[in-house]
Amino acid sequence: MPYEIDETHDQSLQSWVESANDPATDFPIQNLPFVRAVFADEEDRTFLTSAVVIGDQLLILELVAQVGLLDEVVDTDLIESMLLDEIYSDMTRNERQRFRARLVSLLSADNDELKGHDVAEHALVPMNEVQTLPAFECHDYTDFYASVYHATNVGTMFRPDNPLLPNYKWIPVGYHGRASSVVTSGTPIRRPNGQLSPAEEGGAPSFGPCKLLDYELEMGVVVARGNELGQPIAIGDAEDHILGMCLLNDWSARDMQKWEYVPLGPFLAKSFATTVSPCLVTMEALVPFRCPAMQRPDGDPKPLPHLTDEHDQSQGGLDITLEVFLASKQMRDQDMEPIRLSKGSFKDMYWTIAQMLTHHSSNGCNMQAGDLLGSGTISGPTRESRGCLLEMTWDGDPFANPAVIKPGTERTAIELPTGEERKFLADGDEIIIRGYCERDGYRRIGFGECRGIIEPAVI
Ligand code: MN
Repeated sequence: MPYEIDETHDQSLQSWVESANDPATDFPIQNLPFVRAVFADEEDRTFLTSAVVIGDQLLILELVAQVGLLDEVVDTDLIESMLLDEIYSDMTRNERQRFRARLVSLLSADNDELKGHDVAEHALVPMNEVQTLPAFECHDYTDFYASVYHATNVGTMFRPDNPLLPNYKWIPVGYHGRASSVVTSGTPIRRPNGQLSPAEEGGAPSFGPCKLLDYELEMGVVVARGNELGQPIAIGDAEDHILGMCLLNDWSARDMQKWEYVPLGPFLAKSFATTVSPCLVTMEALVPFRCPAMQRPDGDPKPLPHLTDEHDQSQGGLDITLEVFLASKQMRDQDMEPIRLSKGSFKDMYWTIAQMLTHHSSNGCNMQAGDLLGSGTISGPTRESRGCLLEMTWDGDPFANPAVIKPGTERTAIELPTGEERKFLADGDEIIIRGYCERDGYRRIGFGECRGIIEPAVI
């Protein structure tokens, strides 16, 4: 089913929530991402409730629903369930569009229904006054490897003779991640201990704090609606099962990964922490920023028929600009701005999100509402668009220089404004991921931030 631009994407729409009209905001009325807000009462009991972000405010959906303002578009009991995937799991795409249109209408400058209602005073809360969590409960997490640039760079480092394995252009490669350690932006990240790859081939590993700690710039895709066990999702239906997207940092211990990943893939090098941004931008909000799937170079195989859909090929890509910033503890202590490490786009991914979801369910595996799919590190063709330090500080260029440099050796350090140098992350370093969409004729929308500071390992 094609995506259609509708009145909710009109760039001239303004909100009566003034901060939403600031050209610099990530959260104009055309966006309305979902979060869960955490409130504490006087006895420190916490309450969770679903909300949409508008400018610098949160709109508490439960309160709006209680006074009947959402009656025509959603069941009030569902809103009270607090979890967005529960609210969304039974909705068709048309119903989701109606829900969005109603929220846009209630927040529009020319609509007085909510603005003029007593509930408005309580239903809007400054975002910086409450803790926010992702709008979904992550029960299961899978991480893909969908950037051919990332896969080629990493493959060249780990397997110089054989960088891209023969399955890569046929299968959206993935591994099963760990849901329990998916944390929200701002949660400190403890440097993991683990078995580190031997210094020499054939030698013994050591056990201790990871020395090659890295981030991975990724997007998270959240499932809205699952499938029955044994009933695969067809490629043409895949996006009806997707709720929205968030920023994701797949923290990675490279010295552990290199030792453990053969033959079953990453395990403890990844499962110590994965950070997601609280804001979940809906697929409906992303419609103006759709683009064709990445054009496969001549000579690459066409995907098999079950992964091929005409509409997915023409509109399955997403032009989302992504930036990674680093601030060391010294930089923060000296009030220095974080430095930008890289800038890339999600449109450079080899596999679409529909292909990843379809592949995942193609054996009959049942996806469930709230499942999180990581895209894999988002790297583009240039050095500036490499999505992790493993690639950024690597001197090799697989397209020009077949010489191979082992991870951890002969790397180019990144120089920080304090004079410090980084090849991998140091304790106290903060990684900040930001993402946004821009297109002429449309309002810019953003994903907010995904942050995490590295804490020293447990000794
Ligand atoms: Mn990853």
